[in-house]
Amino acid sequence: MKFGFDIDDTLINLREHAFHIYREKLQQDVPISVFHALDRVEIHEPFGLTDTQGKEMWSASLEEIYYTSCPPYPNAVDTLLELEENGHEIYYITARPGEHGERTKKWMAAQGFPIRDDRFFCGVKDEEKVEIIRELQLDCYVDDKPAVVNTLKEDPIHVLLKDQTYNRHLDLPRLLDWAAFKSLTKG
Ligand SMILES: [Mg+2]
Repeated sequence: MKFGFDIDDTLINLREHAFHIYREKLQQDVPISVFHALDRVEIHEPFGLTDTQGKEMWSASLEEIYYTSCPPYPNAVDTLLELEENGHEIYYITARPGEHGERTKKWMAAQGFPIRDDRFFCGVKDEEKVEIIRELQLDCYVDDKPAVVNTLKEDPIHVLLKDQTYNRHLDLPRLLDWAAFKSLTKG
């Protein structure tokens, strides 16, 4: 089978990692419970930043956010390795800016994820992911963003939503823990 995965906040805990970076950089002791109560993707509001300032902060911190010690979610690496061992094809489709493709690929490989150059797509905007997903004829795709999964509603593909506080309004099969992936798919 062909399995596709978004990266940020699907396989790795990027926003929470960024939240810790913001706390340090802005010298603000915002409790992590505030992060867990956020109902939007953006994380800047609790730090008193406007949306414009938040965008600037994200861009200025991108290097650190992407390439330091962002942890994969528990069981994510092992789940994908097992899929690969069982002969399945693994694809990554990320909206990270295209210029981050090569380094992101290397960073992901260093975390232990099974990576192949020809199965790694970077710089694909959320609303464009659907085209690649169709072209590749994926059997299953996992993402955290409502904007992505909503474009796949009519497709025969098995879509799983990685549970996040900002997607709880969607009524779709939900992945709470990567340990449950196998039981939710035929992988
Ligand atoms: Mg994501």
